[in-house]
Amino acid sequence: MKKIKLVLALLTLTVFTAACGTSETVESGKLQVVATNSILADMIKNVGGDTIELHSIVPVGTDPHHYEVLPEDIEKSTNAAVIFYNGLNLETGGNGWFANLMETSKKEEGKDYFTTSKGVEPMYLTSAGQETEQDPHAWLDISNGIQYVENITEVLIEKDPENKAVYQDNSAAYIEKLTALDANAKKEFNDIPEDQRLLVTSEGAFKYFSAAYGVTGDYIWEINTESQGTPEQMSTIIDTIRESNVPSLFVETSVDKRSMQSVSKETGVPIYETIFTDSIAKEGENGDSYYDMMEWNLTKIHEGLKK
Ligand SMILES: [Zn+2]
Repeated sequence: MKKIKLVLALLTLTVFTAACGTSETVESGKLQVVATNSILADMIKNVGGDTIELHSIVPVGTDPHHYEVLPEDIEKSTNAAVIFYNGLNLETGGNGWFANLMETSKKEEGKDYFTTSKGVEPMYLTSAGQETEQDPHAWLDISNGIQYVENITEVLIEKDPENKAVYQDNSAAYIEKLTALDANAKKEFNDIPEDQRLLVTSEGAFKYFSAAYGVTGDYIWEINTESQGTPEQMSTIIDTIRESNVPSLFVETSVDKRSMQSVSKETGVPIYETIFTDSIAKEGENGDSYYDMMEWNLTKIHEGLKK
């Protein structure tokens, strides 16, 4: 009799498991969340913790402006309860990969997918003919990053009200850390003469950062819809560097470094360090979270410009 009971119990368990869903992820019962890139994914992880199941689309260290969608991304997006993207022309500039993905996955804006940059005051590109295009790199001003976290928190609570307290607590602790980092960042460059506070990178990703923290950003190309400087762009930045007192140049982890290496060779100004713009670092390396990448950027840019 005992044996029969056990067999019955096992049978019931098998049937129950089979009925519960077709994929492992759905079986977990956790809120299925997708983020377009590693920076957003890290912010979401800080709010959602283990309560959610998260898939990040664009791999660490690569450029989110352009991306070739994989079958896995379509599957995860189709099954997702909520999808976060940066907006401000990041995933929808370039080859427009995100709009196509949402169409393929049959997702609707404001119902299934949400921009993390809601409420951020956009800045615009300055290159001729591009003045109406928004600059996406708002997260490099930490106060905007905090706005992103608030937006993420609001959507997670709306989608999963049962875990409201978890999201609220995680979010509050995370925002407190970011607020302190932002306050320090506002004082970071005070001890550097203004004519030395020129932040030269490959892509002009530091508009929001520069405005927030009192440096002047310059670049080879304005946005990563290009990946190598044209001869004209190269000579423009080389002239600017020669006319300035800038002691160091910087290059980003998610771009082709050859153009900046040529600029450095041509001007004799060394590349001081690699910094983060459009991706966090690989897990276990310096800068492997949004907080750490911002702290790294602030420290390294300060060191380089103070020389
Ligand atoms: Zn970029």
